[in-house]
Amino acid sequence: MLPLDERPVAKLDRAVIFLGPPGSGKGTQAKGLAEKYGIPHLSTGDMLREHVAKGTPLGLMARPLMDHGELVPDSVILRMVAERIERPDCFHGFVFDGFPRTVTQAKYLGELLKQHGLKQPFVIFMVIGTSVLMKRMTGRRICKVCGEIYNIYERPPKVEGMCDIDGGELIHRPDDREEVVGPRLHAYEKQTAPLVVYYRRLGLLCDIDARKSVDEVRQDILQAVGSIRGER
Ligand code: AMP
Repeated sequence: MLPLDERPVAKLDRAVIFLGPPGSGKGTQAKGLAEKYGIPHLSTGDMLREHVAKGTPLGLMARPLMDHGELVPDSVILRMVAERIERPDCFHGFVFDGFPRTVTQAKYLGELLKQHGLKQPFVIFMVIGTSVLMKRMTGRRICKVCGEIYNIYERPPKVEGMCDIDGGELIHRPDDREEVVGPRLHAYEKQTAPLVVYYRRLGLLCDIDARKSVDEVRQDILQAVGSIRGER
């Protein structure tokens, strides 16, 4: 039998949500899962950073909040997400990374999915203790060109500061600096962690041990997603 990773997959037709503290590996795994199923990877953090880079009014408003590790208001995020999932590439499902982050956002998403005729979301909860996260976040480097994620402690690039894939410059996100990581973890505990209870009560949550290696976590996620396809 082909290894899980190499087997062809059918369409997902579902929204998958990655829930977990910053630095738990949501971005890496969400990107991989979206590629595997040929559906969009929707990172609200990336969308906001694009607005910041372009200097749009939304970007100007969001920047100081992001720089301090605080959440951007629900109304802004919800408008941005609603617009994005209207696009045809989302008709067969999508993978959310960094959304929802509050119970208000989760409730709104539930309504949106209903309107779009999509099933209940499948929520992957990346379980990891906060002590490991500081190192993961401060060590994170991201390719400016392709978005590949490295970690100078756990998964360094072959050449310092350069992407192995395309030679792009590796950047250190301003909010991955030590002084912002604390407030980001605090925002997670206060505003996002209640979503674990919310989705568990709805029976939509799947716990994944995020302390394992990137490849092991990927296999666990593929197995979990494969087992729910078409069931709920
Ligand atoms: P991320 O790349 O997901 O870690 O997000 C970076 C920053 O963008 C966060 O620290 C927040 O300031 C903001 N952000 C991203 N997604 C959301 C969201 N769903 N709700 C509120 N703020 C968000």
